[in-house]
Amino acid sequence: MAIDHPLDEAAGLDAADPLAPFRERFVIGDPDVIYLDGNSLGRTPKATREAIRRVVDEEWSGELIGAWDHWIDLARETGDLIATEIVGARAGEVIVSDSTSVNLYKLAAAALDAVPHRSVIITDDDNFPTDRYILQGLAAQRGLELRTIRTDLDKGVDAAAVAEAVDERGALLCLSHVSYRSGAIADMASITATAHRAGVLTLWDLCHSAGAVPVALDDADVDLAVGCTYKYINGGPGAPAFLYVREDLQRSLRQPIWGWFGQREQFAMGADYDPADGVERFQVGTPPVLGVTAVREGARIIAEAGMAAIRAKSTLLTSYALRLAESWLVPLGFSVSTPAEDERRGGHVTVHHPDAWRIAQAMREAKVVPDYRTPDRVRLGLAPLYTSFTDVHTGLSRLRDLVADERHLSFDAKPGRVT
Ligand SMILES: *Cc1c(COP(=O)(O)O)cnc(C)c1O
Repeated sequence: MAIDHPLDEAAGLDAADPLAPFRERFVIGDPDVIYLDGNSLGRTPKATREAIRRVVDEEWSGELIGAWDHWIDLARETGDLIATEIVGARAGEVIVSDSTSVNLYKLAAAALDAVPHRSVIITDDDNFPTDRYILQGLAAQRGLELRTIRTDLDKGVDAAAVAEAVDERGALLCLSHVSYRSGAIADMASITATAHRAGVLTLWDLCHSAGAVPVALDDADVDLAVGCTYKYINGGPGAPAFLYVREDLQRSLRQPIWGWFGQREQFAMGADYDPADGVERFQVGTPPVLGVTAVREGARIIAEAGMAAIRAKSTLLTSYALRLAESWLVPLGFSVSTPAEDERRGGHVTVHHPDAWRIAQAMREAKVVPDYRTPDRVRLGLAPLYTSFTDVHTGLSRLRDLVADERHLSFDAKPGRVT
């Protein structure tokens, strides 16, 4: 081992961590489990258990239908919180609704309808599968061309390749801000500016950014964005997603699903669809109140901690993990597939190994929870609100030891249904 990393070093980093007290705000079931998967499903905030209990026991049980008086604005209020505290937007530009997949469909379709004289959708081959499939579907349904940029799985989206792919036929460019696989950050502002120079609208997927990496949607002049809330926002499994539409675009865009929650004066029950002027027009039907309640609690904790502090800790966590990976894992046949420069790296660290799937299984047995990502990667999510430097040290030393002892070789090499 080239360099030893004593546990004291991690303890020192924890002692100096201003966000360390936030760990107490989350339910930590088994303290021996090192949870490095908050970028797939964030932990449970204690406040959320309380808030859900209150909505069920007091509002739903007590007020019954009368509670809709305040539930009706919950999705918009929670959207405002996400807008102003998490994604660099203004109140009135974000709303919580549906899933990320459905919101992506709604906004992409609205954008395509707005520029009927343009016929090309642009994305990249490393974009998250649901994004690629939804864009494939839209292209097939409308007879459009889907132009797919090639992206290096480790380096992330190449701005020069985007510049080559956008032209006067381009209608919409859809990319992920942080790559779900490598954690590479795309240069949102410069890529958006490149697209705009060719008259192409932009739709950014913020699933691996929201709550981990500061996002400046308004400053970058982004047109549209979507993101999920069950990752770094800790909204819980299947929590409703959010969507963003820049204010000056809202009135000129129409989404394809004309539901009554998008209607101006919804309860007038008018004969014809007449969408609201604001971001509410991108809603469809009744919001899932329990889910939105959980999203609000998760977003409140992020607002309290502050995105600048979250990013500062996240950068320290990932650079610490990379240092440990270099000295402990690389000698065992791993390679690192996350950008080394701090400003190009999101909230997770990914390593390759030919036996990644078996290693991921062996890690779970050793009480370290990572993600396996095809083809040969182990992804370590380091959610800043509750992951300590000691967690990183313990998790990576267990990983080092199990591979050094070849314990992973007793696991099945064939990936399971959910990885
Ligand atoms: C997690 C994730 C999604 C998930 O979409 P759902 O509709 O919630 O299933 C979409 N895009 C990216 C980039 C993701 O990481």
